[in-house]
Amino acid sequence: MNIILLGPPGAGKGTQAKRLQDAHGSVQLSTGDMLRAEVSAGTPLGMEAKKIMDAGQFVSDAIIVGMIANRIDQPDCQNGFILDGFPRTTAQAEALDAMLTEKALRLDAVVEMVVDEDALVQRITGRYSCASCGAGYHDVFKPTRLPGVCDACGSRDLTRRTDDTVSTVTKRLNVYREQTAPILPYYAAKGILHKVDGMEEIDEVTRQIEAVLAEVRGVPA
Ligand code: ADP
Ligand code: ZN
Repeated sequence: MNIILLGPPGAGKGTQAKRLQDAHGSVQLSTGDMLRAEVSAGTPLGMEAKKIMDAGQFVSDAIIVGMIANRIDQPDCQNGFILDGFPRTTAQAEALDAMLTEKALRLDAVVEMVVDEDALVQRITGRYSCASCGAGYHDVFKPTRLPGVCDACGSRDLTRRTDDTVSTVTKRLNVYREQTAPILPYYAAKGILHKVDGMEEIDEVTRQIEAVLAEVRGVPA
């Protein structure tokens, strides 16, 4: 299955994408993570992207679609992919469609994670992750069992994104409302948009997403 998780920053897209990846063997394609990897590797694309991201803006559509297209060609994406954090504008949604059509692929479902904006600031400013394995944590909602040690791999290299501050989050929420939310009717018109309640606990959100995917596959949940 090829799916998109759509929702404002902090909605839980990354958290759920990881779970779906583990459960179904599909591959999480987080454009944010892919870009941040370029940034920390100091590639020219990464250095350019850093300037843009630090200003709370988006990297060019051509760069991102090209990055995803390359990734989708890898053999591990044959079982499907989960896009998390992309597309963010209607233009990107159209560019993605064109790219998939060219590869004779299609989207099976777009899952909108519906959340309350006030909760997002708290979620985002409390999040951190493991630099070694990518596992995600939260100061309040999902701390590591041992302080400073990753549950999944034992690494002590836990990091916070430099852009997870209140002022940047507020900016990102405004951008989501103005530029990303307008994509929802685009996918609704294609009949592939489904909603889940992102305010529920992490396990319950997973259950709701699995119910949507079962319905799309035509299997009773
Ligand atoms: P996104 O990828 O949509 O920006 P994340 O998956 O990084 O969001 O989640 C943001 C933060 O909120 C993380 O620290 C995560 O552990 C936490 N989180 C995710 N889903 C939930 C939830 N349903 N309830 C409470 N906290 C959550
Ligand atoms: Zn780890």
